[in-house]
Amino acid sequence: MSNTPVRAQVKGAGQVTAGRNSAVGEQAAAKPGKAAEAVTATSAGPTAAKKAPGGKAAVAKAPAKRAAGKTPAKKAAAKAPVKKAAERKPSAKAKQAPEAAGAPAAKKAAAKQAKPESHLSMVRRARRINRALAEVYPYAHPELDFENPFQLLVATVLSAQTTDLRVNQTTPALFEAYPTPEDMAAAVPEELEETIRPTGFFRAKARSLLGLSAALRDDFGGEVPGRIEDLVTLPGVGRKTANVVLGNYFGVPGITVDTHFGRLVRRWKWTDEEDPVKVEAVVAEIFPKTEWTMLSHRVIFHGRRICHSRKPACGACPIAALCPSYGVGETDPEKAEKLLKYEKGGHPGQRLKPPQSFLDAGGRPAPPLGAAAAEK
Ligand code: SF4
Repeated sequence: MSNTPVRAQVKGAGQVTAGRNSAVGEQAAAKPGKAAEAVTATSAGPTAAKKAPGGKAAVAKAPAKRAAGKTPAKKAAAKAPVKKAAERKPSAKAKQAPEAAGAPAAKKAAAKQAKPESHLSMVRRARRINRALAEVYPYAHPELDFENPFQLLVATVLSAQTTDLRVNQTTPALFEAYPTPEDMAAAVPEELEETIRPTGFFRAKARSLLGLSAALRDDFGGEVPGRIEDLVTLPGVGRKTANVVLGNYFGVPGITVDTHFGRLVRRWKWTDEEDPVKVEAVVAEIFPKTEWTMLSHRVIFHGRRICHSRKPACGACPIAALCPSYGVGETDPEKAEKLLKYEKGGHPGQRLKPPQSFLDAGGRPAPPLGAAAAEK
């Protein structure tokens, strides 16, 4: 997916896609289905990546070897920074007697780990991660279905504290009943609440939708404004939501710091900041503006599919060699592979109307609300 503004790319064809607002709640995974082999083979992990063309195999090779290591020395080495371990050439001694040579090697790795990474090295590593993620998720996109900026704004507000999948399953009926800000502003509150009930927190969300629809009707001529200063004045719209709308409809570069983005950049040691606004500022210094929107999608994709909050699938992570937190999750490749979600685990994605690039890569559309192949 290019950085071309969505407005210019696809309008009204179901290929226009929305950004994830908050992802505050963890992602619900889809039920197992037939594996999307083409996708999984290129990014489901070191083992698969070895077979795949391109540079991912090299990236993933080191952690796979480490994960397979059985000796205490190898286990110790696995805790060392992955990149450094990957770059280290085995000594002749290690080749002849790996068991005996493992301990000094682990000590060396530990000594290297103790040396802090320079800012320049971190920036270079961060950019390598972004490039690697671009190969792993060439189809990265916002995971909310939308056909115009009003739908994007509404869907993003609804995505707080729930999955994009649940929002996508709810919005078809919502937009059919209330296609414009004027229609939604005139909605009977109880009826609106009932329509968006599956997304949770439906009373508060209904208040936001009524308020922002009325504001759009009264203050902006029924149009969604394209400036962050205006967007954040709308009820229920914060900086994160505004950035999603700007980045994915108006083509204004933006960094979306949701729960996944914040967690991953801290695991990657790009920053220790917890405050999303500070995280955004740090990441903005590392990458050129042209990368901001797609970087956000790639990082969030990775957080939802592989680098989960509670059970990161390190043993199946194609960027493990660049990650200083390798080992915080499951390192056994087979066990890790079972943790993969959405298309990486062979399951449907989150969008009922995904972009063609996702389908071309073997991804599958999400089922409608109540369908048998629901998420798990
Ligand atoms: S912590 Fe996340 S990014 Fe790092 S190796 Fe594990 S799954 Fe991959």
